[in-house]
Amino acid sequence: MAAEFPEQFKVTALAAGRRIERLTKQAREFDVSLVSVEREEDVAVVRGMLPGVDVRWGSEGLMEVALSQGVDMVVAALVGAAGLTSTLGALEAGIDVALANKETLVMAGQLMTAAAGKSGASILPVDSEHSAVFQALAGHDAAEVKRIILTASGGPFFGRSLESLKEVTPEEALAHPNWDMGRKISIDSATMMNKGLEVIEARWLFGLGAERIAVTVHPQSVVHSMVEFVDGSIIAHMGVADMRGPIAYALGNPSRLPLSGMALDLGRMGSLTFADPDFETFPALGLAYDAIKEGGTMPALLSGANEVAVEAFLSGLIRFTDISEVVKMAMNDYSPVEADSLEAVLEADSIARDRANQAVKNIRP
Ligand code: MG
Repeated sequence: MAAEFPEQFKVTALAAGRRIERLTKQAREFDVSLVSVEREEDVAVVRGMLPGVDVRWGSEGLMEVALSQGVDMVVAALVGAAGLTSTLGALEAGIDVALANKETLVMAGQLMTAAAGKSGASILPVDSEHSAVFQALAGHDAAEVKRIILTASGGPFFGRSLESLKEVTPEEALAHPNWDMGRKISIDSATMMNKGLEVIEARWLFGLGAERIAVTVHPQSVVHSMVEFVDGSIIAHMGVADMRGPIAYALGNPSRLPLSGMALDLGRMGSLTFADPDFETFPALGLAYDAIKEGGTMPALLSGANEVAVEAFLSGLIRFTDISEVVKMAMNDYSPVEADSLEAVLEADSIARDRANQAVKNIRP
């Protein structure tokens, strides 16, 4: 996006994990003055490749990137809990965050929205469903909103029975019909936990209770989500399934950027269908609603336990249908505490991992 619209965006600092070559290539392309990597041992190599550029590492490096001189927007796209501290730091400093990381709001939605509210920073959703809702809400008062309706593709197993999903392989579960995504999110999409996590995200982004966030299965992925208003009108966002759309809307907000190759060919679209989700076959979705109702650190626990369960499925330790079972077992008897500090959230995440690992062992001793 920054390469496509150089007159609108100036990239000043970059952070990466271990993909050093990609980082140095982008750092040169955008002539940045600061980069950060995950591991200390990569620092010397990167310094050698990028003379004149400040090179930092670890969570302090991330924080320096997020708060570096002159930054007015942080694009937060780290995977997992790694980006929590720096995202919170940016919001506390009043810097807008374009958020592409689910865990941030799932684990620490209360903290993030409180920090943004206090400093006046905006959280701009990059997740396609939330971007759709955000766009449908533009120009409307919160009091006019009856509920939001997130669309779900249903994943590769839409229409199947719970019984028939017991023997599916990771390869089958990874084959998503509409979106090309990473392994974790593809499995989450197949179990519908991804939609559950998105319901939790929506709860924080739009400040609505779980009872006002619905999910509809829409296998064509043309409608990216909807808002229903108090007069019964529904405003839906439609577009091609390409993440450049939501990214451009978050970065360009409140303006729209002229993107090429995004035209939807309605004549070739055929039928658009909608169906209620099947909570029996996909119990993960119901578990996410339960986690919101329990509140506090329960969503963080759900998210952490799910990560362990997905990893266990991908390594062949448990069956596909055991993923939700592991999450359910981890949630069972857990008493959530207030999610009012990063320590509380990270503690819940660590408890989640212990409980889920134990549940994996109990299922497959
Ligand atoms: Mg999404």
